[in-house]
Amino acid sequence: MNKNNEICRVCLEPVKRTTYKTGLGKTVCAGCVRQYRNCFACDEFVDKERALRFSDGRYVCSECARGAVYEFDAKQLAKIKRRLAWFPEMPIAYKVVSKETLPKRRRRTPLNLGRSKPICENHGNQLLIVSHEIEILIGLPRELHEAIVVHELFHAWLHEHFTDEMLDKKDAEWLCSHMSLLYLRACRAKKPWRKIIKAGREQYLFKHAADFKDKVSWQIIHRLLREAKKKQKRSRVC
Ligand SMILES: [Zn+2]
Ligand SMILES: [Zn+2]
Ligand SMILES: [Zn+2]
Repeated sequence: MNKNNEICRVCLEPVKRTTYKTGLGKTVCAGCVRQYRNCFACDEFVDKERALRFSDGRYVCSECARGAVYEFDAKQLAKIKRRLAWFPEMPIAYKVVSKETLPKRRRRTPLNLGRSKPICENHGNQLLIVSHEIEILIGLPRELHEAIVVHELFHAWLHEHFTDEMLDKKDAEWLCSHMSLLYLRACRAKKPWRKIIKAGREQYLFKHAADFKDKVSWQIIHRLLREAKKKQKRSRVC
């Protein structure tokens, strides 16, 4: 028996020796790890024989594969935009990309699901943002895809309003995850997605207003978060 008396989430038996943890922190025993795989998106277990697999090695359950987004869809983006009380000013190029295109993360940390890159131009001695590039991992279920788009859009919005010195990287991650969580709540998205985004947000501790060097910028964000809450109640806009 292991020290913590942990129960395997697949066979529901106490785990004897080695325990394995999924991205969402579920415990699995050695025997079940051999026979089952967890879906990269929803973390549910599927029999290895029946699990679908993307060519990049990700296992996916049939439900997630059925509703997945494989290419950029302008209509879907317009729908997301309508729900947001904020939006980056500069033009954005969207792409749905392979796992290899996105920066790799350390082993045992959740998969990288998207990236937002500001494109800058030199004007005199000032570097100005002229557009953004947003990349989203291919094969994400629709609601999760939208949540990641919102996350990356908020990175773009932050890039337009804050320099790296003004906003701590971890604070930025917290804020972006928070925005996608507000979005999912407003859409009344299914629970696993909200749980996944929330778990992502909880990796970061949010510092408070006093830590911000620039009070004005902090006030903007504070107002945004408050408005998002209000609007969510009123018109399901986040
Ligand atoms: Zn087991
Ligand atoms: Zn799944
Ligand atoms: Zn991020």
